[in-house]
Amino acid sequence: MPTNLQNVSGYFERLLAERSQERIEQDLTPSLEDMPPSLPRDGIPGTISPGAVEGRWRLLDAGTSAKDRLLDAMTREQMPLYGKNIENFIGTVKLPVGLAGPLRMRGLFARGDYYVPLATTEAALVASYTRGAQAITQAGGCTAAAIWEGVTRAPVFAFDSLVDVGKFIMWAAQQVQTFRDIAASTTRHGELIRTRFDMEGNHVYLIFEYTTGDASGQNMVTIATDAVCRFILDQTPVQPVYWFIEGNLSGDKKASHLSFQNVRGRKVTAEATLSSGILERHLKTSASRMLDFYRVSAIGGVMSGNIGLQGHYSNGMAALYIACGQDAACVAESAVGVTRFEAAEEGGLYASVTLPNLILGTVGGGTGLPSQNACLDILKLSGAGNAPALAEVCAALVLAGELSISAALASGHFTRAHQILARGVPEKRKGPSEDSA
Ligand code: NAP
Repeated sequence: MPTNLQNVSGYFERLLAERSQERIEQDLTPSLEDMPPSLPRDGIPGTISPGAVEGRWRLLDAGTSAKDRLLDAMTREQMPLYGKNIENFIGTVKLPVGLAGPLRMRGLFARGDYYVPLATTEAALVASYTRGAQAITQAGGCTAAAIWEGVTRAPVFAFDSLVDVGKFIMWAAQQVQTFRDIAASTTRHGELIRTRFDMEGNHVYLIFEYTTGDASGQNMVTIATDAVCRFILDQTPVQPVYWFIEGNLSGDKKASHLSFQNVRGRKVTAEATLSSGILERHLKTSASRMLDFYRVSAIGGVMSGNIGLQGHYSNGMAALYIACGQDAACVAESAVGVTRFEAAEEGGLYASVTLPNLILGTVGGGTGLPSQNACLDILKLSGAGNAPALAEVCAALVLAGELSISAALASGHFTRAHQILARGVPEKRKGPSEDSA
């Protein structure tokens, strides 16, 4: 990102006002002096040793207050449960959890009224999603459909020449059923459903796509793909010069141009139609005002080069993922999609969201941890058979958030809501721009 010279010289002036140039050079020079002690290890992988936990706290010299807050009595008691989810454990961070809802679901898989646990430190978030959820519920609920699923792993093989690439692909194309059988031998719930090839010069990417049962599946597909790759290395008529289990063509933990060409996790689409009365009563706005806002924000999104078209999927999604033991980093790819608002009959508003990359699960990962599992229990979506319903609830929650934030901006309430809820500032007179809203 280029920056103008004025900014650069201003930045250096501020730095040099506090430290000499020599001091800055010294500070930036790598140093091997007084090396810090290594962290005490737990020993057996997947377990937590209380002695090692104490050792890590001794090393921190952070005082008993910090230790008591992170390593409280319940955390100590539940410590063994965290062994397969964390290394160098020292305690748990407590996050506030609030309920958004009620959220009525009319989904293919999620049906009924949900109170959705959200873990966040962002004031106004739960209130905003609650408002959107209530509006949807008053409209009869969110119609949702989890329509497709798949998780990819994309190993890459580098060959000497295109001739070798050709020999390799001709051989590999005959092995697809064997690849499926090998993958199946590593997992009871995962299934290799599609094998595709891509080429770049003398590099071959094999794109393996799996269904993963009720697990989000990233470990599952990695383990299965590794077994397939071992077979490939053993049997291929032409050896690659080198290879890697992932060539960064799976979209793992990042928004990418793959987002709309493939599914990653689950693809879900969800919709609701709000009457003018609901828009007025619950969202303090009108369809025409919402559509004006939708139009300018769509153009703003295009001008900023966004992937997809949406307001803030990551907000409620991150809070849901954290509450329910999902890998929060997967919000990077999951929070991609398209929101659409259209005029409905008699001043109503049709609203939909489509999310092609919902990486989430109700089994595995962090879903079995004590408080995360409790949040899934609140949704009655813990364990086998529930992942598609969780995906639909997630999409409906996202829709609630899109409606609520758009309404807040359309009605001019956005700033005031944050002032009141985050700063505790009492409600005050409207500003002139808000009056015109
Ligand atoms: P996992 O906890 O590693 O595996 C899921 C486990 O649940 C498997 O042992 C599976 O058995 C079992 N299972 C039981 N009932 C199931 C059901 N109904 N459906 C599906 N599985 C069932 O979880 P994962 O979902 O594969 O991986 C998620 C974790 O991977 C997250 O913690 C994430 O942070 C991490 N991650 C890993 C990578 C990576 O590249 N390795 C990348 C990103 C994230 P079977 O296998 O026998 O079916």
